[in-house]
Amino acid sequence: MEAQRSEAHALAEEVLLRNPPADAPERARSHFAVGTARIAEREYIEAETHLRRALMLSEKGDDQELLIRVLRSLVQCALLKGDPELALTYCLRSLRVALDAGDAVLEADARMDIGAVYRELGDFESALGHLLACLRRMGSIPALKYGQLLCGIGRVYQDLEENEEALNFFESALEAFRSEGNIHGEGLAYVDRGRARATLCQHEDAVSDFKRGVEILSTLEDTPHLAPALATLGGALAALDRHEEAQIAYTTALSLIEGSPAPEYQKDVLLAAARYELSRGLPDSAIATLSRLAGIISDDEVSRYAWEMYALLAEAHEQQGDLKTAIHCLRNYQRVRQAVCDVTNTLAIRGLMLQFDVEQARQREETFRLQSIELARANEELQFLHTQLEERNRVLEQISNDDPLTGLKNRRYLWLRLSTEVRRARRHQRPLCAMMCDIDHFKAINDRFTHTVGDAVLSRIGGILRDAIRTTDIAGRYGGDEFTLLLTDTDLEGATMLAERLREAVSLHPWSELAESLAVTLSVGVTQFQSDQDVHALISAADSRLYEAKRAGRNQVMN
Ligand code: GH3
Ligand code: MG
Repeated sequence: MEAQRSEAHALAEEVLLRNPPADAPERARSHFAVGTARIAEREYIEAETHLRRALMLSEKGDDQELLIRVLRSLVQCALLKGDPELALTYCLRSLRVALDAGDAVLEADARMDIGAVYRELGDFESALGHLLACLRRMGSIPALKYGQLLCGIGRVYQDLEENEEALNFFESALEAFRSEGNIHGEGLAYVDRGRARATLCQHEDAVSDFKRGVEILSTLEDTPHLAPALATLGGALAALDRHEEAQIAYTTALSLIEGSPAPEYQKDVLLAAARYELSRGLPDSAIATLSRLAGIISDDEVSRYAWEMYALLAEAHEQQGDLKTAIHCLRNYQRVRQAVCDVTNTLAIRGLMLQFDVEQARQREETFRLQSIELARANEELQFLHTQLEERNRVLEQISNDDPLTGLKNRRYLWLRLSTEVRRARRHQRPLCAMMCDIDHFKAINDRFTHTVGDAVLSRIGGILRDAIRTTDIAGRYGGDEFTLLLTDTDLEGATMLAERLREAVSLHPWSELAESLAVTLSVGVTQFQSDQDVHALISAADSRLYEAKRAGRNQVMN
């Protein structure tokens, strides 16, 4: 079947090359047909050549719809080639064409593409901006695209860690797909809603969503979506301690990806399976699963998959007691993580530059048309865009949210979230607690056992904090040996219990693994947010409790 199809395409191509159709629109359509067929066969370079020709030809004609279809295929091709910057230039151009043609449906398509590309570039705010603009114009868009758009918005909210908002959108998407009669969309939306619910720790509901999604996707034999969905189902089942069922889900997911030609979705499945094996204390199986993953990740790959693989490998070797290999893996983890962060920032900055260039070109054309009266206004707008761009570049340069040593959030991110959470707590009158933790006599630990041991202590404390909190809580490194925890929907009693648990976990941790006779304790100050406080007052209240804990002899919790 597959072979027959590609033979037919080769034939079409030959006919096209030998007897080029006389008129440009016809030639554009032929190149477009061959280009899209090449995409399906994963021949991206050839696909691009044909699509570029189709673009040149259709730009001369007046078939706007064909022009946009060509541009959208070029977007798809650039994304599959792993070149989101190029994709962005094409989709900004198709937005331009749609706006000029005043066609709401084409505009919606272009904005959905732009949203997807910005997601790829890690610029979630811009993605959301375009998708919400699309939603506002919904009245003029056919119902068929409604579910797809709502799902897209939900996913961006998930990227922004606004999971409740995401959940609302997935719910509306489900309804939309149902009324559209789009079964495939429904299957995908169930899986998306399951993911949002799992993040919100609603594991029972997540399991039933995943099961419904899996049922639909397996009826439709959509393996690329089915295998990762099964792996996430496994995760939710494991969270409910339903290990037999979880095991079955992972095994099925792993068998589905066996011999599959597309490595992209295999990576998610393998990572999830290894994570599960580690949580069951099976480092040998995890290492076997991860070596399958290593087979499809190249040595110099800079991606989330690569750093998660190294982190899990480190944990597996640590579970086996092989600390030397574990440290080696941790080094690789840090290297890749930093590289991912650098690449993401550079891409995001370049994305903005491109958007600016396109906008600038448009302004130039417009200025030319509108002559002198409009000239001043257009220039002003350009100036405004320029200032905005400079400002956003400055922000993007320091966008990294994580502290590389501990894997916790960094101080900049902490402050950002603090103000959001304080506002949210005040608005919804929900309890919120802040906790300041500081390692006792850390200077002496550095002096007596070296800075390397000191760093390892910080990193392990990062792990202890991360393991102890809920997904909705935030743990960050405030600086040096000081950590801040922000606990949403938690009152002082609950926060104090957690603080006590943390203090105990630190003091009982097997520190002698790092250095003989090493002992580490933590002092903790806890406070509950009062509605008349601002962020500074909240942190300073937690800080003074911490100071009291230190004065009272350290290794204790004060509230
Ligand atoms: P106290 O019980 O009063 O907190 O005593 P302390 O010795 O811990 O005092 P303090 O909190 O002021 O000391 C913080 C020390 O942490 C000082 C600095 O040398 C060390 N430090 C800060 N950042 C790092 C780091 O990234 N790595 C290492 N190894 N040490 C750090
Ligand atoms: Mg200290």
